[in-house]
Amino acid sequence: MTNGCCDVVVIGAGFAGVTAARDLSLAGHSVVLLEARDRIGGRTRTDGAFGHPLEFGGTYVHWTQAHVWRELQHHEIPLAVPLEVDRVHWLADGAVHSGTQLDYNAVVGPLAARFFADARARYPLPFELRAVDNDDIAHETIGDRLDSLDLSPHDRDVLDGTLATLVHSYTEQGVEQLLVWTATDFGDWGAFVETAGSWSIQGGTKRLIDCILAESKAGLSLSTPVDAIEDDGSRVIVTTRAGDRIRARSAVVALPLNTLADVAISPGLPQPVSGMVERGHPMLTAKIWARVRGEIEPFHAFAPVGKNPVNAARVEHRHDGDTLVVCFASDASALDGTDPEAVQAALRTFVPDIEVVATAVHDWVGDEFSRGTWVHHRPGDLTRAVPLLREPHGRIHFAGGDIAALGVGGIDGAIESGSQAARNVAAALADGRN
Ligand SMILES: Cc1cc2nc3c(=O)[nH]c(=O)nc-3n(C[C@H](O)[C@H](O)[C@H](O)COP(=O)(O)OP(=O)(O)OC[C@H]3O[C@@H](n4cnc5c(N)ncnc54)[C@H](O)[C@@H]3O)c2cc1C
Repeated sequence: MTNGCCDVVVIGAGFAGVTAARDLSLAGHSVVLLEARDRIGGRTRTDGAFGHPLEFGGTYVHWTQAHVWRELQHHEIPLAVPLEVDRVHWLADGAVHSGTQLDYNAVVGPLAARFFADARARYPLPFELRAVDNDDIAHETIGDRLDSLDLSPHDRDVLDGTLATLVHSYTEQGVEQLLVWTATDFGDWGAFVETAGSWSIQGGTKRLIDCILAESKAGLSLSTPVDAIEDDGSRVIVTTRAGDRIRARSAVVALPLNTLADVAISPGLPQPVSGMVERGHPMLTAKIWARVRGEIEPFHAFAPVGKNPVNAARVEHRHDGDTLVVCFASDASALDGTDPEAVQAALRTFVPDIEVVATAVHDWVGDEFSRGTWVHHRPGDLTRAVPLLREPHGRIHFAGGDIAALGVGGIDGAIESGSQAARNVAAALADGRN
């Protein structure tokens, strides 16, 4: 591939990069897609464990998510119906409480309504975030918002527990992203929880991304990490770790935010984008699968950050007489997901006699090509730095779920952002800017 040349080089073959490569190649441009790993899919990974297909990364999608829904319909892929769960255990003020889903909703609903009271009014058009709006909360953290509600220890733990799947650090994550997400779902936290965490894809995310790739005419090069991207004023020059140099008229950089600092980008990014890239985002969490002995009663469990190594768990599948439980740990470093005994101890907080026979996990935090799970932006970044990264940087265009306008942090946003980058590149190629 040395000194190869094409119209566009797309870097990163997650949902954003594969979508951008597909759209640009179908529009008639010559496209090369470079991927560091030996597989496509990035932070989605459908794989077998315990003899059952499982999602190790991004999973849940919804018919209200326009971009992913369009792709699912186009490729005739249905959603998988979730297992019904009507038993909830929640740790609050040092005790485990149990009830039906309705019981839990009655406890958490009014607290979530207070937390998200201003979401819809602040973000009436959540797809058009402008730095000038909501200046008063640009630097508010999720922890600041929790403190401001002046809750009893019990109520604070309940609210903390219901947010915990989405939190690694209350002091480092901006409240804006939670408010924008909820605003997108009519300002209703319950609606957001359903859209963001219930329905998966029949056959897995791999089935969908394989279909998008199959439509593409781009040349795919796996196991090709990129080290440098330079816009020299007339061409983009991409240098791979192996030392190959690829020249193109434009580049789409569809990399996770937390890996951008590992790639030399020239000319350098301006502030405040460069600051965001240097700091990265703080989602250092873990998703762990546990195979549990026997067909146990389906349950959903919540614990506040720092008060149990597993902060959320849910029975998702039956398998061969056993039960498969998905667990989320707010702090990946606080729980060894490869250790069944450690995961069992954390789950016994909720279900004292649960028996974990095996676990399976992908270490997204230690993985050099993700360095974290889904994005959660630091205070100020979502409305001040991220919109700037969506703008072309000369011949270099950025894409990804981490910087999506509407579906930030998810598969839907990755597809949205990949398509948008493709439209921007096509326009720049057409009018001679690239
Ligand atoms: C545990 C977990 C659970 C999640 N749950 C959900 C969910 O339920 N629903 C949902 O919608 N979203 C979820 N997400 C988020 C979702 O998976 C991501 O937002 C989405 O997949 C991001 O797609 P992307 O293409 O922007 O980035 P990625 O998928 O990260 O793709 C970027 C690609 O760039 C490659 N790359 C990195 N560095 C280099 C380099 N130097 N050179 C070349 N290539 C490189 C990577 O290998 C990767 O393939 C979850 C994520 C995780 C990790």
